Amino acid sequence: MNSSGPSGSASVGRCDVLIAGGGPAGCAAALALVRAGARVALVAPMGTPDWRVGESLAPDARPLLQRLGMLDRLAADRHAPCYGNQAAWGRDALTAVDYRFGPYGEGWHLDRSRFDAAFLEAARAGGACWHSGHVRGAQWQHGHWQITTGGGSVLQAGYLVDATGRAARLARRAGATLIRSDRLIAVAGLLGPPRTKKVEWERTSLVESTGWGWWYNAPLPGGGRVVMAMTDADLLAGSHLLDPGVWWAQAHRTGHVRDRIARWKGPPRRLRVLAVGSSCASPAAGPGWVAVGDAATATDPLAARGIVSALATGLVAARAILADRAGDTDALAAYARRTTAIHAEYLRAHAAQYRREQRWDTPFWGRRHQGAAE
Ligand SMILES: Cc1cc2nc3c(=O)[nH]c(=O)nc-3n(C[C@H](O)[C@H](O)[C@H](O)COP(=O)(O)OP(=O)(O)OC[C@H]3O[C@@H](n4cnc5c(N)ncnc54)[C@H](O)[C@@H]3O)c2cc1C
Repeated sequence: MNSSGPSGSASVGRCDVLIAGGGPAGCAAALALVRAGARVALVAPMGTPDWRVGESLAPDARPLLQRLGMLDRLAADRHAPCYGNQAAWGRDALTAVDYRFGPYGEGWHLDRSRFDAAFLEAARAGGACWHSGHVRGAQWQHGHWQITTGGGSVLQAGYLVDATGRAARLARRAGATLIRSDRLIAVAGLLGPPRTKKVEWERTSLVESTGWGWWYNAPLPGGGRVVMAMTDADLLAGSHLLDPGVWWAQAHRTGHVRDRIARWKGPPRRLRVLAVGSSCASPAAGPGWVAVGDAATATDPLAARGIVSALATGLVAARAILADRAGDTDALAAYARRTTAIHAEYLRAHAAQYRREQRWDTPFWGRRHQGAAE
């Protein structure tokens, strides 16, 4: 990446592609682009939070990780295997999906901070120029993007990739509309390793529905556990789930989650509220810009495909940018059409999944059965 500019003024760094956001989508795009010889700037904040949610990685990530050269790194980083999912959904008894009978074998229970850090490290080692911080402004001027970062750098790029997550701020600035299908939120608690010496790991994630939404529970590498209550943002106040005592008591009123947390003393000290609804950027690309990952298509954690989708859209968007540079004038529009079609297919499957749970006549379930969760 070149730096230029009159002495005394902020230097202007020039690159072919600027990627905002260093999650799996941004890093996948960066890895694919640098390998194809593009000069890539990756603007991403330094460091990782103490714990990141989104830790179940489905086995169909395997071919994507292989293409990105990250499969061996995942093994070396000692994430834990995930054998499948269990669900009490539509009935009290559990049903199970065992990944080991599928084409890609087991998935992973990730240490998500470590996973994201490994991707960022690989993108940098591959040649992406990392700028620590946030993109604050992006303007299309005279055939290129003029981008300012929180650190005061000014960067010029031929292409802008919005990999900033589900708010899709840069895609919206470029002209996209963010279409939200629901207002699902997660109230997440982290349970540290239990004091008991020996813990029997079930190595599956668990989903269990309730009247106001559903619970998610998964083991973490190292013996901890993530537990999340999912409901709609407008139902949160009435449910009192933000009160750790109520949250803990509700978890103990379940049929299965309570067994998984039986060895823990609760409630957790801190609960985090996170947006987890379904949304998409429309369009997901335009002249000189592309949205990837959650910025392009954000999915309900019930689908457990957010990371896979982030890696896939990062790779496909990189290919579209390279094709556009090579003169294929339909490449970015084709990416946008493909992303829209995939999101529409996801929404159909998602609605069918929620219709399978018919035991509660409550606002949470009623709006999903009527197809109006907004
Ligand atoms: C509660 C919860 C549970 C989930 N569970 C799962 C799961 O079990 N399995 C699964 O596959 N998926 C899960 N997901 C979804 C998954 O985490 C996401 O789909 C995935 O992280 C998307 O990757 P991304 O790279 O698009 O965005 P992110 O991982 O969100 O990364 C975006 C990055 O951009 C940075 N950023 C933001 N603004 C700017 C800016 N202006 N400039 C520069 N950088 C910026 C952010 O700091 C962040 O690091 C879950 C999500 C949530 C919220």
